[in-house]
Amino acid sequence: MKRVVLLGPPGAGKGTQATGIAEKFNILHISTGDIFRANVKQGTPLGLKAKEYMDKGALVPDELTCDLVEDRIMQDDCKNGYLLDGFPRTVFQAEHFDKFLASKGQQLDDVIDIEVPDSVLIPRAAGRRVCKQCGKPYHVEFNPTKVEGVCDACGGEVYQRADDAEETVRNRLKVYAEQTAPLTGYYKNSGILKAVNGDQTMDKVFADICKALGE
Ligand code: ADP
Ligand code: AMP
Repeated sequence: MKRVVLLGPPGAGKGTQATGIAEKFNILHISTGDIFRANVKQGTPLGLKAKEYMDKGALVPDELTCDLVEDRIMQDDCKNGYLLDGFPRTVFQAEHFDKFLASKGQQLDDVIDIEVPDSVLIPRAAGRRVCKQCGKPYHVEFNPTKVEGVCDACGGEVYQRADDAEETVRNRLKVYAEQTAPLTGYYKNSGILKAVNGDQTMDKVFADICKALGE
């Protein structure tokens, strides 16, 4: 049983690492970005609202995001724990979530901060491609699909996210620095923060995260 947060700027490799980590520790991978994108695709009220912010590279409002995650982690498939990818993203979200967990007699076990310099993040986001069906991330150069445009895992169509346009990525990095980076201090104070160097091969990053999680 583990409750884990994956922290790190856009393009750090959270989505890339999350599937393997969730599998290894037998916990559920929850990506708020994937949930929002699925809602945008289905045209739900939540999707319509979230899209306004996502298109600009801004954050979806805190209350909306907290309600979504707090509902999700109370479902049965999270009983054995979960890996949060992309949440929390503000100190408000982190505090709200900690209070929510405490009210259920629970707490987070580990926060993994994947550290990558901005100079590496821009080309990563620019070359990112994502499966429309299962959300698996690829990279045109660093991690291409076997067949162009087709997901290796599920055969879904692979596309470029609208918010991976360079201008939007720059804004997302700014938003990260202003609103999300302070979370490292927040979790350092709780004593559960572990930093991992994300500027290494995917396999090495995976091994370092497993080590940080005690495997
Ligand atoms: P995040 O979920 O943190 O935004 P992703 O996992 O989607 O980031 O990764 C961003 C891009 O960088 C993807 O195109 C992915 O294939 C690529 N990538 C991830 N980890 C590495 C790595 N260690 N080395 C090179 N490219 C990577
Ligand atoms: P991601 O897939 O994690 O890169 O997230 C894509 C976009 O979804 C972000 O740029 C935000 O607009 C939105 N989003 C995802 N997670 C959150 C969150 N925890 N709080 C606010 N907005 C979020």
